[in-house]
Amino acid sequence: MQQDAIIIGGGFAGLSAAYILARARRHVTIIDSRTPRNRFASHSHGVLALDGKSGLDILSDARKQLAAYPTVTFVEGEAHAAEGEIDDFHVSVNGHGTIAARRLLLASGIEDRLPDIPGLAERWGKTVLHCPYCHGYEIGGGPIGVLATHPMSAHQATVVADWGDVTLFTNGMPEPDEATLALLERRNVTLQPGAVLVIEAGTCDRQRVRLENGRTFDVKALFVAADLHIRGPFAEALGCRLEETPAGKIIATDAFKATSVAGVYAAGDIARAFGNITLSSADGVMAGLGVHQSLMFTAHP
Ligand SMILES: Cc1cc2nc3c(=O)[nH]c(=O)nc-3n(C[C@H](O)[C@H](O)[C@H](O)COP(=O)(O)OP(=O)(O)OC[C@H]3O[C@@H](n4cnc5c(N)ncnc54)[C@H](O)[C@@H]3O)c2cc1C
Repeated sequence: MQQDAIIIGGGFAGLSAAYILARARRHVTIIDSRTPRNRFASHSHGVLALDGKSGLDILSDARKQLAAYPTVTFVEGEAHAAEGEIDDFHVSVNGHGTIAARRLLLASGIEDRLPDIPGLAERWGKTVLHCPYCHGYEIGGGPIGVLATHPMSAHQATVVADWGDVTLFTNGMPEPDEATLALLERRNVTLQPGAVLVIEAGTCDRQRVRLENGRTFDVKALFVAADLHIRGPFAEALGCRLEETPAGKIIATDAFKATSVAGVYAAGDIARAFGNITLSSADGVMAGLGVHQSLMFTAHP
């Protein structure tokens, strides 16, 4: 049976959109591979009334509540292709064939690609962190590192300085300009040049940053701006316009999260620079409203 909407990605954005559509009694299929971006962290923060609850638990509760709506279908699997046009989209899912729908919402999130430094990946979401607003409070002050990966890393270090005593490891990035150096000094950020060799266990639960020049620094946490990539080939395959932002490429959308392709919507980290759970959920709500309005009011040939 043709669905009103297919949602690729059942994370915070996708499930929020599904919730709106389910409550409008629309037939919606959510295809999800169950690997949300924050799966590496055992707790999430900054989500009103859910402080400390894990992202996976929040999503599991959401799925249970959505499953009570008879027009919602879950497909657990990986979508690998999407094609078609408004009122006639087709999405292929590994092991589940092809599903057809009138509207398509892309909510597959983004992938964080970390620098290839031994010891970094296994600490991601634990003591190697992406955002001080999500996890900075729990560090409780003290020595904190920022690993430069990006022209914005110096700015990140000046912000993180509100959560502890920051060392910015430049790791081969060009030295910041005069104005940035002055700002780093004003924010008490120490600059540490030299390539980072490895992140290893330090004393007292700290992480040891070992430089190629032999120097070591024990920090309570290390912030890293990962290289962000849209997950899945869908936006490009469908011809959705992309937008360059300081955080990387995102899918361009309007206020109702419609992309440049009629009938295709995008929500969450995939269509917003610097997202979080709350913002992705809000975007999902807007996308759900956008899809519903479009189903009601778009004229059919
Ligand atoms: C380590 C870490 C910790 C974080 N902690 C916090 C925090 O404490 N508080 C906070 O507010 N934010 C936090 N964030 C940010 C938060 O995780 C994201 O902003 C949020 O998950 C984005 O929601 P989303 O729905 O856009 O994408 P996701 O939550 O990433 O969901 C995308 C979904 O799409 C699915 N998917 C992807 N590709 C396919 C495909 N081809 N087929 C089917 N399904 C697919 C995935 O399996 C996933 O379930 C954290 C991020 C990281 C990296």
